[in-house]
Amino acid sequence: MTDKRNRNPIGGHVPVAGGLAATGISYAEDIGAEAVQVFVANPRGWATTSGSPRQDEEFRAACGARELPVFVHAPYLINFGSHTKATADNSVSSLRHSLRRGREIGASGVVVHTGSATGGRDRATALAQVGLLLAPLLKELTREDDPWLLLEPTAGQGSSLCSQVRDLEPYFEILGRHPRLGVCLDTCHVFAAGHDLAAPGGVKRTLDELEAIVGPGRLRLIHANDSKDVAGAHKDRHANIGSGHIGDAPFADLMTHPSTDGVPLVIETPGRKEGHATDVARLKELREGTG
Ligand SMILES: [Zn+2]
Ligand SMILES: [Zn+2]
Repeated sequence: MTDKRNRNPIGGHVPVAGGLAATGISYAEDIGAEAVQVFVANPRGWATTSGSPRQDEEFRAACGARELPVFVHAPYLINFGSHTKATADNSVSSLRHSLRRGREIGASGVVVHTGSATGGRDRATALAQVGLLLAPLLKELTREDDPWLLLEPTAGQGSSLCSQVRDLEPYFEILGRHPRLGVCLDTCHVFAAGHDLAAPGGVKRTLDELEAIVGPGRLRLIHANDSKDVAGAHKDRHANIGSGHIGDAPFADLMTHPSTDGVPLVIETPGRKEGHATDVARLKELREGTG
């Protein structure tokens, strides 16, 4: 995807409580979004809902007209490494639902957290289960317009299966480096996991390592969030752009690294619409080099 107007589309996670098209699009316009991310189910539950074909159609048309790349964030409860059978089963049906809804609304990617080893299990056992459960879902992504599955490493809390960039290697291996497997890099998470993006050369080092491990073209989305905590704190507390421990400059660096060429940035920062509009505007300034 090459966009000559702007290398990195900049947007945000938008609420869709009043309907995908009705709420989502107007929110996106209000914050100046050039890319959007949505939930297609309660992010903190297992219930799946069928969408409204009329809203889907309107949403697709509106995003198409505005050239907005669309992403779906799968529910947070999903954990393919869980030792609980119910959680493992629910994770499969929940992600299958997000992928299906993603296809229906024209999403180019569905983001899922990489999960953790629970119940005192060792990583290898949990990871083997991830492979068994995710492989069939990846196999279902056969159509040209199917979304990519994007793995989002976490901040490294608890017995996280994947937080540092190098943890993506066994994850990708166990999934056979499937052609529809990509990465959603959350700047707050990777910073919390120990990659000091604020240090000189920190962004370049991290992105070089990422590309070396997953290969070119796998980084499909960036969650642009500042961090309320210091590098390596293993805390998942997002801050508004420039007001946390990452600061402004690393976001400018990020948007000049070759591996982010054309990759959308989506904010998941605290606050409401005005704050989100400020964050989007700030990232655009940093992109244009006027920051
Ligand atoms: Zn995120
Ligand atoms: Zn987070």
